[in-house]
Amino acid sequence: MNGQVGNVHLMQKLNRLKVLSCIRKNPYIVRPAVAEQTGLSLASITNIVSFLIEKGLVVETGFENAERIGRKAVLLKFCPSEHNLICVSISQSRISVSLTDLDGKILQTKDFDFSEQSAKEALLKIKSGISALIAEVDPSKLLGIGIAVSALVLSDGTLAVSSKMRWDKTDLKGELEKEFNKPVFVTDSSVARAHYCNEFVSGENIRSMLFVDLVDGVGAVHFYEGHLNRSVIGEIGHTTVEKDGDECFCGNRGCLEIMCSLERAGEQYKKSGKGKSIDDVIKGYESGEKTAVALLNRAGEYLGIGMANAVNVLNPDAVIINAGQYQGCTAVLDVAIDEARRRIFSALSDGIEFKTAEISDSMMIEGMAQNLCECIFDINFDGEIF
Ligand SMILES: [Zn+2]
Repeated sequence: MNGQVGNVHLMQKLNRLKVLSCIRKNPYIVRPAVAEQTGLSLASITNIVSFLIEKGLVVETGFENAERIGRKAVLLKFCPSEHNLICVSISQSRISVSLTDLDGKILQTKDFDFSEQSAKEALLKIKSGISALIAEVDPSKLLGIGIAVSALVLSDGTLAVSSKMRWDKTDLKGELEKEFNKPVFVTDSSVARAHYCNEFVSGENIRSMLFVDLVDGVGAVHFYEGHLNRSVIGEIGHTTVEKDGDECFCGNRGCLEIMCSLERAGEQYKKSGKGKSIDDVIKGYESGEKTAVALLNRAGEYLGIGMANAVNVLNPDAVIINAGQYQGCTAVLDVAIDEARRRIFSALSDGIEFKTAEISDSMMIEGMAQNLCECIFDINFDGEIF
């Protein structure tokens, strides 16, 4: 392809993506409004929308409700149901492989029990789940495969630090692309949950959102002006909050995720002779038992220190905390928020809204689908669709 033809194709792809993104973000929009928002001519919009309708990515859905004389414009909407995604979620105890539409609506799921297994064993299960689900759909309609894993994921899709699963550097992306010949995007599970919050939980006027995830450790994700800030890797769980604190699996001492964990509080409760498990310390906390209250408040304070450190670096308007391991005792999160507010620069503190959320597995799948669509409908993606 010569340079000029290449540029024309690139421009065409860019304009199609611009229009698709505008329609995705503004359901029930009319063609003139798309032209206004994208800066393209109405004639170009007409052509591009026809292309997107033919591809099954946009549908016409009724007429605008305008009080003016003349033909009313047709409303346009993103169509999630004509194409499919595979969303794989890998946690410390379970692998689930789901077939979804482009909005992350789950059509079918295969679940596998999974704990203390190697990356190789996990990969075999993932491959068998994906094979079974792919057999159910038209392969040309499957746009991509997303993997959310509780791990630090490098930009090339390999895993670097994998929480308690302790996998070595694993190339999930390469292995699965070779097997299924579809684009594979690997992301940290916390990023998938944060995508859901960015879409559905975060408020309208939030420019900078910090998402703190308390599932399988402590992760942080930053969104700026609605987009994932990819330069923040978010491993606040392994920042030090106590110089000579407990030993962490990462090799350091006093990491946030150890010092604020329920596991640690449970062990100390056991040592005090008051109970035997994490459930006991939570029950003790709820009933006001002094040792349990002191242990969990201490955990909350450590969490608050970690959050304040992140806030003083990122200056968010909103901090959304996914309760995760603290779902049974969310009062600990109030302690954490109070502690964080005490330690944040006072000039920032008043403007920050703290919210708690409980992001379920199905919400995380919706977040994964959002993330996958952003990757697939991106100018750098070289797939066939555009
Ligand atoms: Zn650590």
